Amino acid sequence: MAKYKLEYIWLDGYEPVPNLRGKTQVKDFDTFPTLAELPMWGFDGSSTRQAEGKSSDCLLKPVACYPDPTKTNGALVMCEVMMPDGSPHPSNSRATILDDSDAWFGFEQEYFLYQDGVPLGFPAGGGFPPPQGEYYTGVGYKNVGDLAREIVDTHLDLCLDAGINHEGINAEVAKGQWEFQIFGKGSRTAADQVWMARYLLLRLCEKYGVDVNWHCKPLGTEVDWNGSGMHSNFSTKYMREVGGKDYFEALMAAFDKYKNEHIAVYGPDNHMRLTGLHETQSIDKFNYGVANRGASVRVPHSFVNNGYKGYLEDRRPNSQGDPYKIASRILQTIATVPTP
Ligand code: ADP
Ligand code: MN
Ligand code: MN
Ligand code: MN
Repeated sequence: MAKYKLEYIWLDGYEPVPNLRGKTQVKDFDTFPTLAELPMWGFDGSSTRQAEGKSSDCLLKPVACYPDPTKTNGALVMCEVMMPDGSPHPSNSRATILDDSDAWFGFEQEYFLYQDGVPLGFPAGGGFPPPQGEYYTGVGYKNVGDLAREIVDTHLDLCLDAGINHEGINAEVAKGQWEFQIFGKGSRTAADQVWMARYLLLRLCEKYGVDVNWHCKPLGTEVDWNGSGMHSNFSTKYMREVGGKDYFEALMAAFDKYKNEHIAVYGPDNHMRLTGLHETQSIDKFNYGVANRGASVRVPHSFVNNGYKGYLEDRRPNSQGDPYKIASRILQTIATVPTP
């Protein structure tokens, strides 16, 4: 028997963007616990905007478990929030995702590292560093400073050691802006891992006195500094194996029809980012285009070359979006399109 530190992690009830919360319980296990061995737990929902004070208990249901590489016998336990009667809490967006073990998602999470209220590497006393140009995938102190690289490389190692399926990282267009990509098979897998990777990044940054700014346009719209997105790449078994031009066009018609429903869950303040500039389409329009980074949905060259089979990239979701809600909406829209 050993004492395992189980860090239960969940999304709170804040709107429009939930915060990550976590607390730890210690339990005895012979070996690293399986998901089925992890007990339900509870918390005070009146402190997280998930319940009234009078009847404040909410339940935590473990749904994914990762080893915590920073601890001996530590586990990171992703949880759904449930009502006392066992039904999903209204804030539980994960519970709305259609079951589909053959749905694949790849999320490209962009974010800014912030220190003392400005992006890492911006002059402390106000003002701006040299304009955008060399920062994207850049190297050297003048481009990335002395701290960011240590943070993003450590974060990548932590995630890989936890079994999170990172596919890569890169410095982004603005100074202090970075991206990581996570891919997963199964309708909830990548979304679980994005939330866990966000948690690990926030927790790692504590010791550097650095915060993560997930806002989609943290520097505002008046200046020529990029915003942050979370491009969402998706495919179903049908899209990968059957596809075809007719099905693709029907799918895109459905995305057009439900464009407002999609934007509603693609992250707050997206009108600041989806302007038609900086490789985006306007928030009120839907379009798609082959290799078009100014489109709502980018169709990779490979998709067309393979007879309209493969994955598509929805470029509208932003960096503060909830990947559970995004995956849920995409699968809901796909489900409206009949397959022969
Ligand atoms: P870019 O920046 O050019 O848009 P990235 O390499 O950053 O491209 O991201 C592409 C994403 O597409 C990755 O997250 C990858 O995992 C994802 N992806 C690749 N193939 C599929 C697929 N069949 N279904 C869903 N997502 C996919
Ligand atoms: Mn990318
Ligand atoms: Mn990017
Ligand atoms: Mn992309």
